[in-house]
Amino acid sequence: MSQISWTDVDNFFVDTLVEQDEALLAALENNKAAGLPAIDVPPNLGKMLHIFARMIGARRILEIGTLGGYSTLWLARALPADGLVVTLEYEPRHAEIARQNILRAGLADRVEIRIGAALDSLPALAAIAPFDLIFIDADKKNNPHYLEWAIKLSRKGTVIIGDNVVRSGRIADPAANDEHLQGLRHFLQLQAQDDRLTATAVQTVGAKGWDGFSLALVEK
Ligand code: SAM
Repeated sequence: MSQISWTDVDNFFVDTLVEQDEALLAALENNKAAGLPAIDVPPNLGKMLHIFARMIGARRILEIGTLGGYSTLWLARALPADGLVVTLEYEPRHAEIARQNILRAGLADRVEIRIGAALDSLPALAAIAPFDLIFIDADKKNNPHYLEWAIKLSRKGTVIIGDNVVRSGRIADPAANDEHLQGLRHFLQLQAQDDRLTATAVQTVGAKGWDGFSLALVEK
């Protein structure tokens, strides 16, 4: 198998199963025009997040790492009218593009973007917690801290998803040891050790290469 086949299969799945309406497509176009990196979740994973949120009847969602709000749109669309996604973004420019995309999608009433380093924004979220689903997708070196906060801001039954835990296989290569890989390994180890969590991780291939996500359920 090769990147070409992975991309072909992703395209087939997206064409067959993942209808992206005007607002989702316009968000990706707007991100591109603004020069944002194309590191948003692929459409089939965006829809997977949407389905997860609906499966658990999520009403409050926390996202760490907004970029242009593409994953935020998928998550916000899973909510009832009185639901809320709080999404945390460090770069004001990314947050501004996300704001435009969310407004265009008619979801401004159920998305709150908080600008700043996530570790500075998280403590104030105790006032909104517990969150039903938490999607961690920012600077991977801080994932162990984000996990700690995610647990604090959760309840029994909360689902915690961590993106990009494979990094083209480098997660399992002892010779690869940058700060993000160190953070991700610690993040996964903490999920294994914490008796409040039941966790797994799944690798994926697709148009955006070889990667994967972790999935944890808060047990108590
Ligand atoms: N979830 C987005 C999507 O799928 O459309 C993609 C998020 S992108 C992978 C990661 C984002 O996290 C970037 O926009 C980056 O600026 C932001 N970020 C990086 N470090 C951060 C931090 N310390 N606090 C908050 N956001 C951060």
